[in-house]
Amino acid sequence: MESKKIIWWLLRLLMLLRVCISIFFDVMALFLEQGAMQQKQLEARVHILAQQEARYRMNEFLSIASHELKTPLTCIKGNIQLLMRYFKHGMAKDGTCPYGTEHAFVKAQALLERTDQQLTRLTRVVNTLLDSARIQANTLDLFLEVCDMCALVKEVVQERHHHLPPSRVLDVDMPTDRPALVMADAHRVKQVIVHYLTNAHKFSSLDSPIILQVREEEQVVRVLVHDEGPGIALEEQKSIWDCFYRVPDIPVVNGTEIGLGLGLYVSKMIIEQHRGQVGVQSMPGAGSIFWFTLPAAQYTL
Ligand code: ADP
Repeated sequence: MESKKIIWWLLRLLMLLRVCISIFFDVMALFLEQGAMQQKQLEARVHILAQQEARYRMNEFLSIASHELKTPLTCIKGNIQLLMRYFKHGMAKDGTCPYGTEHAFVKAQALLERTDQQLTRLTRVVNTLLDSARIQANTLDLFLEVCDMCALVKEVVQERHHHLPPSRVLDVDMPTDRPALVMADAHRVKQVIVHYLTNAHKFSSLDSPIILQVREEEQVVRVLVHDEGPGIALEEQKSIWDCFYRVPDIPVVNGTEIGLGLGLYVSKMIIEQHRGQVGVQSMPGAGSIFWFTLPAAQYTL
């Protein structure tokens, strides 16, 4: 009798346990379903935000691109019209210049120089756009050869001296007794150095120096461009390498070119295609050091 009672209680207990387990699984399923739904809602929200951000950046890019393309074109057209008007009115019917030929030359030369500067600006914008299109299409070809990084930096500094105001100090710090050899496309690597240098000039005041440094490290050659500009907050430092990204509140202090926000993206892609790395060390108010590394030639040959 006693054992029958025990079995009866055991059976009841088992049934209760079964009910509890089934309730437990139902609650778990509900939780999981709710979690999955929340996850889906979160993903949809993130997707919408990403789309909004991409649309915002594309709109901003289009407005800057049209400004950067139209401004030089308008200046070029204006200069040519001025030149034509000058030749039409500044020259007598018999071909002589009433103001003197010297005056005509000076005037024409100034207009042509301004036109040339605008053409250079236009070429730069078009080249940046073409490069980023090549990168997206995976057709940016590199022509690799053994190059001396110190010589490339020296060439850039010599060439840039003609484009920068005379008061801008460019200091160079690199080994002078031996080359720093890398396997690289010299034209493309110079393009990256020029871009870092152009940004350093664009964002820092003229009375602060820019330092270009070449360092030989274990297995790599590192190029660094130091400036004393506004510096970049840590949370912006990842985004500046993205397409079309420009840090809000960092004003251009030299020149009138706003920039498309593509230069660092193109630079990163060029260096990574060489199996190198890019980076920035910066803090608001403390200037920036933009750097890249390339594998030293003896490790790539
Ligand atoms: P762009 O091609 O328009 O010059 P980049 O891709 O080179 O643009 O740079 C992206 C953004 O990073 C710039 O708009 C600027 O906000 C910031 N930046 C780049 N270089 C510097 C620098 N040396 N000092 C401060 N900010 C910089």
